[in-house]
Amino acid sequence: MRRWAAIILTSLMLTVPVAPAASAQIGQPDIIQEHWYHSYLTLTLDVQAWASDYPEIVVLTVAGETELGRNLWVLKISDWAQNLKPDGTEKEVVYIDGGHHGNEHLGTELAFLTAEFYIEGWAAGDQEVIDVLSTTELHILIMLNADGNDIDTRWNINQVDLNRNYDHYWNTCPTTQPGSSAFSESETEANANYMNTMVSDADLYVTMHTGVWIMLYPWGKWPQQPSDWELFHFIRDDVHANISDIPIRNANQGLYPNCGTSRDYGYGVMGFPTFTFETDDEQFLLGSVEAISDRLGEELDVMRYLIQNVWYWRARLVVESIEIGDGLVDAHVVNLGRASTSNASLHYMDSSGELLWQSSMFGINATNETKVSLDARNLTLVEGGTWSINYQKRVIDASMWVNESVDESVIRNKGGGSGLLPAPSMLLVFVAFALAAINSRNRKFK
Ligand SMILES: [Zn+2]
Repeated sequence: MRRWAAIILTSLMLTVPVAPAASAQIGQPDIIQEHWYHSYLTLTLDVQAWASDYPEIVVLTVAGETELGRNLWVLKISDWAQNLKPDGTEKEVVYIDGGHHGNEHLGTELAFLTAEFYIEGWAAGDQEVIDVLSTTELHILIMLNADGNDIDTRWNINQVDLNRNYDHYWNTCPTTQPGSSAFSESETEANANYMNTMVSDADLYVTMHTGVWIMLYPWGKWPQQPSDWELFHFIRDDVHANISDIPIRNANQGLYPNCGTSRDYGYGVMGFPTFTFETDDEQFLLGSVEAISDRLGEELDVMRYLIQNVWYWRARLVVESIEIGDGLVDAHVVNLGRASTSNASLHYMDSSGELLWQSSMFGINATNETKVSLDARNLTLVEGGTWSINYQKRVIDASMWVNESVDESVIRNKGGGSGLLPAPSMLLVFVAFALAAINSRNRKFK
């Protein structure tokens, strides 16, 4: 453990600007770190020490400021020696925040412990951590409501409930103090800006609170299950079978109806798979002998599971085969992910990437596969043409679109050279003959 003697330093830091250069000199004894909650000041010292001590994996940035001008620190944790995964694809992205409510200290500490697990695990050579950081970016904003944390209150300094201030059905339900308008507060505006600009392709967002011991998925606004219920139910069942008995429910039914929350915004506007992670409310541990890291050991295990498996929290389509002929494209598509998609289509481009044809939409359920026959009467194959599959990563309208190329080895032209298939139009006959000619010198059309 390498952190800070908060008590000793507090008096110094009141008059001296926070200096990262000083941070590597004094380690905070475990007995303090494990039995005190973070203030804004001790958090600032800790995140700066991490950035100073582990520049190869920790980049410290600022998402914005609180209403009183405190920095909203974000730790960006990954193996920054590699911008891509070892296989050359983009890294997965995870977003975590804590401390919307300034008096919910245990939930804020869970965000801190999650960062600590990966940073100190890296330093210790933990293989799980090395694997995660080579494939994943973690973005962790530990304390959103630093002003409220200072005075141990739920609200921010303007007496607003930050977790009712987001622009998703803002103030459309019986609610606690939601502010004068959506994003009226600098903290929530900054958090949403960070989501939209820095982590918009995240496949997991966890927002940490303290209250009833429960994990809540969308919606808070409505009692109905969310469009991506298969994904949330899979995670629920897997966590219960292997890790923890923590209840996992939709927020509206599992806790109470609410609106304008960061969870509903994260899912409904950003399209992230989102959980509110509530630690229990027995958080007054001062004087107890139990360490915070022991206290939250089970919760951290759940976080490790969600992060380690982030690759699965979306649809992952693999095209097994494409057969072209008879005015149809027959495709066999497998979904390796745990989320369904309802808006998949095949695209055919010329060698310059211009779209020449696209199929109608089809859906594929989570961990399932489908064989579709797609109308292709207006498809004209060209030399050097390429195929891709275009789809939304999840079912929810807001989820991101991806376009992934199809391996050319799975594409077969039934009309090419066999002469067996009657073409439905003169155009197709022409295409088939043209392809037969191309076939002899271009291995793209097998
Ligand atoms: Zn809360």
